[in-house]
Amino acid sequence: MIIKPMVRNNICINSHPAGCTAVVMRQIEYAKKHLVKEEGVPRLVLVVGCSTGYGLSSRIAAAFGYGAATVGVSLEKSASQSKPGTPGFYNNLAFDREAQRFGFASITIDGDAFSDAVKTQALQAIQKAAKEEGIPPKVDLVVYSLASPVRTDPKTGILYRSAIKPIGQGFSGRTVDMMSGNIFTASAEPASDEEIASTVKVMGGEDWELWMDALAKEDVLAPNARTVAYTYIGPEFSWPIYKNGTIGKAKEDLERAACEINKKQINAWVSVNKALVTRASAVIPVIPFYVSCLYKVMKEKGIHEGCIEQIVRLYKDRLYYASAHNEPGKTPVDSEGRIRIDDLEMRDDVQKETAARMEKANQETLASLADLAGFKQDFMEAHGFDVEGIDYEADADLLGN
Ligand code: NAD
Repeated sequence: MIIKPMVRNNICINSHPAGCTAVVMRQIEYAKKHLVKEEGVPRLVLVVGCSTGYGLSSRIAAAFGYGAATVGVSLEKSASQSKPGTPGFYNNLAFDREAQRFGFASITIDGDAFSDAVKTQALQAIQKAAKEEGIPPKVDLVVYSLASPVRTDPKTGILYRSAIKPIGQGFSGRTVDMMSGNIFTASAEPASDEEIASTVKVMGGEDWELWMDALAKEDVLAPNARTVAYTYIGPEFSWPIYKNGTIGKAKEDLERAACEINKKQINAWVSVNKALVTRASAVIPVIPFYVSCLYKVMKEKGIHEGCIEQIVRLYKDRLYYASAHNEPGKTPVDSEGRIRIDDLEMRDDVQKETAARMEKANQETLASLADLAGFKQDFMEAHGFDVEGIDYEADADLLGN
């Protein structure tokens, strides 16, 4: 089957197997080149939300950078003989295939990470992966990288939906349709109390704590185990829709959860990451417009990073900085105890220039002031399209073999 991208409203509903594989391979090469297996780096890693975006890069960096055995959990749609699977389905296949080729144990679980059943499956997979690798079944690093629109509470069976909305008053701001390049105003009504509470239920820290409790109870955490979950802060103009909105409330709860996990003698951090194009971020109002301008500025300054570059820096200069620099207990954090790898994005000169371009950009000047092409490229690549070296006129192997 020949597969062409189907994109509407910044959502792509299909994917290309060979393109997804090529993007995974590119990230693997980057991780191999920029990380070294040394004393203190993790040997057994669990990534919850492993198939795309930051979670995929976290797994790739752990396995191909540090040689770790990995267990990954994600929720993806498999391919059939007539229909492509989701990008994460192909990414997982490519990851497992390469890990096997290099001899790193890797087990991928496809299922609802919020459920008790999948947590139990993961505990079993940890034992199995450790056995295959010939190491003790003790996880050194847990990366929690879920981005989900819904969560069923395993205790009550109630389904909660997350919303991306402002709190208190409505929000509107300019954004851009990636495919047409049309600038338009996106608006969102203020969230109800129920929507706020539901978003915290889905994207907050409760499930992260449940994961850590399950791992501790089963005694599969290494004595110096670390765990990290990802958040975003961004520039002030986006705060009404992000930091001070429903999703920001959920992220506050993630920070609360990090404190609770720390109290249980497990090193937990929230890492503030850069705004990037992933399947989750492209649908947040204003983000495509902001990110297009940001990309242009950061590329001009030679400091642009994608997911894998961010995660390599997270491991090398933050999480495992102490191992490499022989300074135990010294993971660089901000005044709130958060890891910051959004430091380059938030630099004064970068923010000032990005804001100026957003102010100036109109339909005529957008192409020269912003990097919409770069945004679109990353978005398409996240679905396996427009990847260099792939013949899109050739018959695609839908099953990703
Ligand atoms: P993504 O959409 O690329 O990845 C989400 C992952 O979660 C996928 O692996 C998906 O399969 C998995 N998932 C979703 N629901 C699941 C379920 N019920 N069970 C199992 N797996 C499930 O998202 P992303 O942008 O990489 O975001 C990951 C985290 O990073 C989020 O917490 C997000 O807020 C944070 N973050 C993102 C950005 C950004 O710009 N993209 C910036 C900073 C922080």
